[in-house]
Amino acid sequence: MKFHFLGTAAAEGIPALFCECAVCKEAREKGGRHIRTRSQALIDDDLLIDFNADSYMHFLRYGIDAMKIRHCLITHNHSDHFYPEDLVMRLPDYANFEHESTLTVYGSDVVGKAMSRALYEDRAFHRLDFKKLKAYETSAVGDYAVTPLTAIHGPHTGPFIYLIEKDGKSILYAHDTHFLDESVWKFFEEHPRHLDLISLDCTSANVPEMTYIGHMNLNDNIKVKERLCALGCADEKSIFVCNHFSHNGDDVSYDTFCVLAEQHGFLTSYDGIEIEL
Ligand SMILES: [Zn+2]
Ligand SMILES: [Zn+2]
Ligand SMILES: [Zn+2]
Repeated sequence: MKFHFLGTAAAEGIPALFCECAVCKEAREKGGRHIRTRSQALIDDDLLIDFNADSYMHFLRYGIDAMKIRHCLITHNHSDHFYPEDLVMRLPDYANFEHESTLTVYGSDVVGKAMSRALYEDRAFHRLDFKKLKAYETSAVGDYAVTPLTAIHGPHTGPFIYLIEKDGKSILYAHDTHFLDESVWKFFEEHPRHLDLISLDCTSANVPEMTYIGHMNLNDNIKVKERLCALGCADEKSIFVCNHFSHNGDDVSYDTFCVLAEQHGFLTSYDGIEIEL
């Protein structure tokens, strides 16, 4: 499988849309990997994870053929992950198709309701569909087996983290969440498997301690890695990635953070990085 990180920031982006902090100033000056757009990922060019307001720009920047994408998993209903207003652009007249096709969006009930509101309840013409997923129930999504797991994050946003499997490979995409819920650990204890790629929420980067619920820092990522390895779900062959960064995190500048993360066996994501599994 090919895992393509299209965007790697938290809600504000780096540099943040309106911000004069040192991190954002540095990002504007240096460009390149210091620029982070809002989080989105694409697997094997056909399974999209999240659909935010940067999707249009990501498709242009990376030459993505949007018509090849028929399935889209949504982690939760925060605007840096779901901007359903742009799904309207798939409806007739906004989009002219040579061959009719459906894009199916998957997520929690909250995501489905947000999608309905944006489309004015209009899912006619079979261009868009929504399938509600339930935590800990595996569903076929195209060629993939997808299992949503509980996230500890804005409870009104219907948050999931996702276990995504195909061709004997397993990916855990865990954004946005606090240190993983005990029910997630129980799931991995009862359903052990080898994870090939683990992408973890690292919103607060190198802050020594989290002061709020809903995201993680590097220390939390290290604890998740240790516990997954102790369970036998990950090993030295597993690729661990820190991802979803906020400009408010400590040492979050790409050059600084990737050195810190590497010391603990983590890759640091950047916009456009592709990982082959
Ligand atoms: Zn987010
Ligand atoms: Zn800033
Ligand atoms: Zn969020």
